[in-house]
Amino acid sequence: MKNAPDFLPQLTGSFAQPAAENPTVAMVEAAYRHHGLHFRYINCEVSPENLKAAVDGAQAMGWTGFNCSIPHKVAVIPYLDGLGKSASLIGAVNTIVKRDGQWIGENTDGKGFVQALREAIDPNEKHITLFGAGGAARAVAVELALAGAASITLVNRSKERAEAVVALLNEHTNARASYHPWTDRYAIDLSSDIVINATSVGLFPNVQEQLNIDFDSITPDMVVADGIHNPPDTHFLKTAAAKGCKTVNGLQMLVNQGVIGIKYWTGVDVDPTVMHAALKKVLDIH
Ligand code: NDP
Repeated sequence: MKNAPDFLPQLTGSFAQPAAENPTVAMVEAAYRHHGLHFRYINCEVSPENLKAAVDGAQAMGWTGFNCSIPHKVAVIPYLDGLGKSASLIGAVNTIVKRDGQWIGENTDGKGFVQALREAIDPNEKHITLFGAGGAARAVAVELALAGAASITLVNRSKERAEAVVALLNEHTNARASYHPWTDRYAIDLSSDIVINATSVGLFPNVQEQLNIDFDSITPDMVVADGIHNPPDTHFLKTAAAKGCKTVNGLQMLVNQGVIGIKYWTGVDVDPTVMHAALKKVLDIH
């Protein structure tokens, strides 16, 4: 006997404002199609005053889970039933999953980064220099610490933001964290195994903007990573690659975030190459 048709996909999606330029829907739906998953991903423009109604709506419509992006990553927490370990340390969530009838908030910003980084180097026992102390840097720092990093030096313009991340790492993880002021043409410590840009420097449309660092302090044995996904070949990564460094770009980070989110919602490990290709197509990257 033929199976009855099923016209009711499981629903996932994103709540953000602005939403129109977020390419996640293209990469997630490409993975759903490729793996024959009976799921949809709906990209929704949700204003801060409508966030609670949107979460209630997702509940009413039986959604499986959703992403929250700017400006909802912290504001959504009161509407959830619990948080995963790193999301609770980071104090922000970007992926919500229904577990045993409860909305649980996870943060895949840093997890996606570490998963991408592992293709070049295992952060366990490594010394890391991290530029930035905003939401992305905080998520990346927490996941690196939970992955066993020996030390993390945070370099940031604003001291207060960096010191808050340093205190969080030293109080709640085994990594040794310290703050270094961002001095002019900052020279990267030679003992750094991994160097990461988690600032917004180099993000489209300011693609000519360069980090204020001494580029001669980058050595070929350093693995160099950048959270900027558009464009993925930032000035920082191009300079490092020319010196012979292994590099990890923000597109790989974004794809891995998607892979982890889909695993939370569907239980399936999807093929990152399908998602990578879909993203490159919609972002017109060759
Ligand atoms: P925030 O606004 O929270 O933080 C911005 C950070 O960049 C701060 O540390 C800020 O320093 C620093 N910064 C901004 N301009 C400069 C400058 N001219 N010189 C030095 N430092 C500067 O943003 P997020 O942390 O959320 O995002 C940062 C970047 O990470 C974005 O470009 C975003 O696209 C990317 N990202 C990528 C993801 C991916 O999956 N690939 C996921 C999430 C984010 P200060 O504190 O001194 O102001």
